[in-house]
Amino acid sequence: MKQITTISCKLKITPELAKEIEATLVEYANACQFIHENSDKKLTNNVAMQSLMYDTVRENFQLSAQTTIHAIRRVCGNRKTSITNHIKKELSFSPTSVDYDSRTFSLDTKTWIVSVKLLTKRTKIELLIGNYQRGILKGSKSKSAVLNKRKDGSYYINININNIAPDPTDTDKVIGIDLGRTDIATTSESDSWSGKKITNKRNHYSQMRAVLQQKASKGTRSSRRRCRKLQQRLSGKERRFQKHINHEITTYLVKKAATNKTSIAIEDLTNIRTRTNQQRRTKKERRLSNNWAFYQFRMFLTYKCLLNGVRLILVNPAYTSQTCHKCLHIHPTKGKSYRNGKNYHCNHCGWEGDADYNGAKNIAALGLSVNQPGGSWLFCQVSNLDFRPRQLTIWDILEGYKKPAS
Ligand SMILES: [Zn+2]
Repeated sequence: MKQITTISCKLKITPELAKEIEATLVEYANACQFIHENSDKKLTNNVAMQSLMYDTVRENFQLSAQTTIHAIRRVCGNRKTSITNHIKKELSFSPTSVDYDSRTFSLDTKTWIVSVKLLTKRTKIELLIGNYQRGILKGSKSKSAVLNKRKDGSYYINININNIAPDPTDTDKVIGIDLGRTDIATTSESDSWSGKKITNKRNHYSQMRAVLQQKASKGTRSSRRRCRKLQQRLSGKERRFQKHINHEITTYLVKKAATNKTSIAIEDLTNIRTRTNQQRRTKKERRLSNNWAFYQFRMFLTYKCLLNGVRLILVNPAYTSQTCHKCLHIHPTKGKSYRNGKNYHCNHCGWEGDADYNGAKNIAALGLSVNQPGGSWLFCQVSNLDFRPRQLTIWDILEGYKKPAS
C-alpha cells in the first residue's frame, strides 16, 4: 500500500527572502482566483481546465509553466472538495501557500537546503529541523511539497514523502523494553534506568514552583513579574532534563541493538493494534500513552531505529506484565496477579524477580514470534487471546502516535 507522510520543516528566512516568498504567494493566490472567476464554476477536470485557461494565465501572471499547472489543479481540487462536502460558501484563495513538485522543488539531504522556484528565480533556503525530521527525510524520496505561511508569520515547507525506508536488518534476536514509572525503562537483557533521579528532580522543581507561586501572588509588581519569569524558566529546565534523559537511553539502546544485530520490541500503545478481541486499555496503557515524556521516548526510539536500520516491533501489551516469562502462567483468579509492585513471584514455577524485567522478557518473546508466525508455542498457552503481533512498518508506528497534550 502506498502511503504518503508529510514532514513539516521550518524555513530559515531573511527579510529579502520573505519579500520574495510573499510576492510568490500573492501571485499564486491571484492566479487561482483569476482561474476560478473566469471559468465555468462546474468545471473540475484538470485537463479541460488546462486547455481552457493555461495560456491566459501565462499571459497575465508571472508564474512558471509548472506552477501555472499547479494553480489550475488547486482550483479544480478545491472545487471538488467543496462539492463533496456540500460547502455553499463561494471559493476564495488567500496568499498562504504554493504547491511544488519534483520539477520545481528539490531537497539536499547532505546540507539540508531546499531549492524552490519563487517568482523570479529558483532559490535555496536552509531548513531549521531536528533529528526527527532528518531521520525520516534521509531514508525517503520526496516528490512534492507545499510552501506554507503560518498564522504567526513563519514560513514552512511541508514535504510529502512516499513510504520508503531503508530495510532494517533481519534477525532472530529481540530486545524487549518495558516502560514504567519507578524505572523509566527495563530491558530483557537486564539493563535498567531508574526514574529516581527524575522523580527527585521533579519534586524539587514542584517545590520551587509552589514557593514561587506564593511569592508571585504577593509582593510588589516588579517582584511578581520576576517570579512569573522564573516559573517559566523552571518548566523549560524540567522539560530539557527529561529530554536529555530520553536521548541518553534511546541512543544507548539503539546503538546496542545495531551493534549486536538485534531487533527492539516495545508495547504497542498506539491505536493501531490488530488484536481481534478488543480489550479495554489497562490503567498502565492509558497512563503511558497520555504521558508526554513517554511519547517523546517512543518518538526518539522510533526515529533512531529508522536511522540505524534496527527493526522496531510493537507487541500487544495485554498480559505482558502479568504473565510469568519462565512458565507462561497467569494468576488463575481473575483480577489477581503474581505481581506485587516491583516484585514478581510466580506461584506456579516459583520464579521470583523484578517485575519490569519479567515484563521486558515477555515483550521480547512476543517480538520474536513476529519472525515465526503462528509457530510459537507461546500462543497455545493463551489460545483464547490473540497474542500475535503484526509486522508493522515505521510508518504505521508514526501514524499511530498521537501526541498527548504537554
Ligand atoms: Zn512461572
